[in-house]
Parts: sequence; C-alpha cells; structure tokens
Amino acid sequence: ITILGIESSCDDTSAAVIRDGALLSNVIASQAVHSDWGGVIPELASRAHSQNIVPVIDSALKKAGVTSDDIDAVAFTRGPGLLGSLLVGVSFAKGFSIAKNVPLIEVNHLQGHILSHFVELPDKTIEKPNFPFLCLLVSGGHTQIVLVRDYFDMEIVGSTIDDAAGEAFDKCAKVMGLPYPGGPLIDKLSKEGNPKKFKFAKPNIAGFDFSFSGLKTSFLYFLRDEIADNPNFIEENKADLAASLQATIVDILVSKVVKAAKEYDIEEIAIAGGVSANSGLREAIAAECSKRGWRAHIPEFFLTTDNAAMIAITGYFKYLREDFSSLDIAPIARSAEMGL
Ligand code: ATP
Ligand code: FE
Repeated sequence: ITILGIESSCDDTSAAVIRDGALLSNVIASQAVHSDWGGVIPELASRAHSQNIVPVIDSALKKAGVTSDDIDAVAFTRGPGLLGSLLVGVSFAKGFSIAKNVPLIEVNHLQGHILSHFVELPDKTIEKPNFPFLCLLVSGGHTQIVLVRDYFDMEIVGSTIDDAAGEAFDKCAKVMGLPYPGGPLIDKLSKEGNPKKFKFAKPNIAGFDFSFSGLKTSFLYFLRDEIADNPNFIEENKADLAASLQATIVDILVSKVVKAAKEYDIEEIAIAGGVSANSGLREAIAAECSKRGWRAHIPEFFLTTDNAAMIAITGYFKYLREDFSSLDIAPIARSAEMGL
C-alpha cells in the first residue's frame, strides 16, 4: 500500500511517500520569509504553500521512485493549524483524490506528531513504542502529555494552561534579540553555556498541566533589570542565559512527564513535536528513563518538526482501518475543535 502524505499546517510545505509503513521519501520546503517578521505571517504562509505544493509533491514522488498512478490513497493534514495554509493542502489532496480516484484520508496533525514514531526508516532500525505509552508532545503550538493506548486511542492527561514550550523558547529568544524561530538557536547557544548560572522561577501547577507564561515574564524582567546596570548584559552572557533557560524549560517538562508515568504506571516514554529536537530535552528524557529502567523513544531529527512522513504514516494506519474522508471535508484551525 502506497500513501502520499501532505502537510501544510503552518510554514512548511511537505510531501512524503510511505509504502507499507516504510518511508520512501520526505520533502520539505521551509519558508524563509517569516524570520524577517519575528513570527509566521499567515498570508505569506498560504501564498508560499500555493507556490511550493506542486514542486514539493513532484519531488516526493520522484525521490520515492513512483508516479501518481502508484499512489493508493492521499493523506493530508486537516488541522490544527493556520486555516489559509491548511486549505492549500486540503484542496490539493481533494483534487488528487478525484483525479486519481483514490481514497482521501484526513489526518490530525497532533496524532501525526505522535505516530511519527512508527515510520520505518530505510537506513536504520527503530524500536517502535509499545502500547500503552506516554508521549510528551512539545511543539510551537502545543505542550501535552498524551496517554497513547492505541494508534487512534489517545487521551490528553496534561497540557499547558498558557504558552506552549516552543513558544516559551521562541519568545525568550526574541527578548534576547534572536531571530524567529529562536528555539534551535537557544539550543545551539546552550552548548557553550553554564545551565546553572542563572535561576528562573518554575511554575507550581497541580497535576500534569504546564505553564510557561510566568517563565517568559520573569526572564523579561530579569533581563530588563540587568540591562539597566549593564547594557551589554545579554551579549556578555548569551550562552549562559540560553543554557539556564533551556535547563529550566527541560526540567519543567521532564519532571511532569515522569510524574505522569509514575501515576499511570507506564514505563515507556516518547517525545514528539518541534521541541523534541532540543538536545537538552533529548538527553534528559534518555537519562531519566535509563535511570529508572524505562524505555525512551527519541525521534530522528527530521521527524520532530513538521513533516509529511508523519502524516503519511498516520494515513497508512487509517487506510488499514478503511477510515476514509468524504470530499466535502473542511480544514479545522483550532485543536479544541479537533481533539486527539
Ligand atoms: P503545532 O505542531 O503545535 O501545530 P508547529 O507545527 O508550528 O506547532 P513544530 O514545527 O512541531 O510546531 O515545532 C516548532 C517549534 O519547535 C518552534 O517553537 C521551534 O522554536 C521549536 N524548536 C525546534 N527545534 C528546537 C530546538 N532544537 N530546541 C528548542 N525548540 C526547538
Ligand atoms: Fe507541528
């Protein structure tokens, strides 16, 4: 079974081909236009998707060594995401489904991030998670602890009450004068910094929920006070600030997911979403799990941020269940309306 997957929820246009669960190709066109603006500009994103989608799909088919005639179903991201961006992928998928007379399969972007752990790679054997497992889903728009009982039986057991972890990285990076998205830059700077140099307040939130807006505010006020004394404070402490900030965010994330694992008696933890590319988080999750004799699932880098491989694999599992969508399907922007 050969599935074409399409992802266009935010600022990356991506297409992938998966055959019987194994990845044949995954092509991503990232949009550079947004870094000048300090964030993703929806109108610019939709326009770039519109320009990129045909070449990206062509390239994914070519790299996979298939033609559009070999595709058994087309899977696309229905949401959550930016409506204008989603519309490009949804419309293309419908057109493809009609033209090639193949089933159309909607995919929840967040389920896609989680199920990215099931993509089989050509050059590496991965140990797929066993059900049930806990997934820490940390991205630009979401921060959740998900109890994954089966492919399509997922329950959110904790989530952020304000900002997402990726947002916390990006907003704090912005305060430091770094371009968007700041998360990867903080990660890079951290490698040369002292994570214990500065202490930032950690939120005290009950249960398995998260909060990051307080950290962002305290980071901002801390810098403002220091800059009043020394205008070069940020420049002189860049790496230590990044490392200390990253250590704080990672600690907040890891302590909650460990707490949830104990509560639900689960010994298998996966991380997914853009922030799961973070080296501090990857190391901390691996260390916590090995200390406790639990299994950690750390994704390949290309599967952390938005990609169509995760959409295609989710589409593949839906295909096996004959879970198809009708042609009048519309995208959904908000995750609250989509669930998991
Ligand atoms: P969502 O999936 O919630 O709709 P999204 O698709 O925009 O949001 P992703 O592409 O999954 O989000 O992740 C992007 C986020 O990941 C950004 O906030 C970015 O800063 C962050 N990020 C990427 N790499 C790193 C890294 N190495 N360290 C920290 N954050 C990172
Ligand atoms: Fe995403």
